[in-house]
Amino acid sequence: MKKYKCKICGHVIESDQKLDKSFSCPMCEVSGDLFVEVPEKKELKEKENDIIQDKNDRAVRISKSNPAITKVVENCINCGICKKTCREVVGIRYEDDEVKTPVCIHCGQCVTHCPKDAIRPKQTYRYLKELLEKKEKIMVVSTAPAVRVALAEEFGYEVGTFAEGKMISALRKLGFDYVLDITFGADLTIMEEAQEFLNRIQSGNHLPQFTSCCPSWVKYAEIYYPELLPYLSSCKSPIGMQGSIIKTYFAEKKKINPCHIVNVVVAPCTAKKYEIQRKEMENVSRYLEIEEIRDNDYVITTTELAKMIKEASISFDDLEEGSYDSILGKGSGAGVIFGNTGGVMQAALRNVYYHLTGKNPPERLLHFEAVRGLEGVKEATVTIQNMKIKVAVVQGLTNIPAIVEKLKQNELDYRFIEVMNCKGGCIGGGGQTIHIGMNKDEIRLKRIQGLYQEDDKLTYRSSYENPDIKRIYREFLKKPCSKKSETLLHTKYASKTHIYFK
Ligand code: SF4
Ligand code: SF4
Repeated sequence: MKKYKCKICGHVIESDQKLDKSFSCPMCEVSGDLFVEVPEKKELKEKENDIIQDKNDRAVRISKSNPAITKVVENCINCGICKKTCREVVGIRYEDDEVKTPVCIHCGQCVTHCPKDAIRPKQTYRYLKELLEKKEKIMVVSTAPAVRVALAEEFGYEVGTFAEGKMISALRKLGFDYVLDITFGADLTIMEEAQEFLNRIQSGNHLPQFTSCCPSWVKYAEIYYPELLPYLSSCKSPIGMQGSIIKTYFAEKKKINPCHIVNVVVAPCTAKKYEIQRKEMENVSRYLEIEEIRDNDYVITTTELAKMIKEASISFDDLEEGSYDSILGKGSGAGVIFGNTGGVMQAALRNVYYHLTGKNPPERLLHFEAVRGLEGVKEATVTIQNMKIKVAVVQGLTNIPAIVEKLKQNELDYRFIEVMNCKGGCIGGGGQTIHIGMNKDEIRLKRIQGLYQEDDKLTYRSSYENPDIKRIYREFLKKPCSKKSETLLHTKYASKTHIYFK
């Protein structure tokens, strides 16, 4: 006999089969589909053994097996800031059990808020150093947009300094064979996501479309709002797409055996360490029919890259302005602003405008002020060819319950919603440089400005203009949402409500 627990009131029922809608909770009367299975005691014990032992009861509890973050217990002063951040800033629900509920969406906001450096991104860079030294594999690194406006801060530069060139040179000196840019993967995401959006507009199905490039948001939806999953874009994140393309198209072009490639990502985000391990991110394995191959192999954060540079005694000041390798080495302005809140939305609208009109987007869409800034929820209506598209940009998952409630009541007519866990977007991710005592919003705004300034300077502002993007569709993918694109660049997610009740 298995045990099932009501998600609403916590009442436990024993049953030999899964409860369904025909059952009604004797305590609160909700239907049986809102009951989740209670894990066996043995399983609970295993989970308890997995927790990093820590007497500090006000701190968040972290699993040893957490792929994204870890704890240095001796640094902790039990101030409680991390748990307050987890509950009030990130939106993790603690009402079930204050102590035992270590549901983690891996965002690393506890890392950025801890005043004692007691919670840290899991350090992956040491394995990488070994691999780089051995020189047995083809080491390919791709850098996420937001890293270039935070890395230099580790070397005493002004917050938000744009340091793309020095970052590239540092990666070359560290021994990487190819240095590529995830702004390319971001452009590819937009090509696919904008097409998916147009398809949904045409069919009228599953609107609004929610973005899905933030793995913390995806896991949050899987745990708390599985009913939203069909509304999430099926597009993999930029790093997910970049990883798939490197081990297929790129490998083919460069005549490299994909099994010899080690794909490394430098990200502002601790949750990306979790994302690359998900079974939903094994598109290359399915496409090439090779079991032991992953789309991406390692993620290191901005702070880990800084450690690698320092440990290799590379003088950051003396680094030259390097440039990315071809053929996945260039993104448009739309790809660059992915690192900012509202960036994905703006990038997508630039593409949607082109699809619907055949013209480049006007100034109002290139500087789309309504979705910029640090408010939790920003909304705007864009009119293209008499079509009114209402959009929202959400930063911070504490804003999600109210939005979902209104959507359920049919009170909102959004068509497209961007969701990012971190305030400011990925520039504020858990793997970015930390400045204890400095105003966090000031830091966010400076980094945001760093990326927008770069967007303004670039010749190509929209993903469809990127010559590398044109080439890959011509030579390999054929068109957005083609069969090959679906195989390599899309995925789908399933409910994880059982985690909430472990
Ligand atoms: S914020 Fe840091 S020091 Fe404070 S309780 Fe959490 S881990 Fe400990
Ligand atoms: S907003 Fe960006 S940095 Fe933050 S968790 Fe999501 S993907 Fe990671």
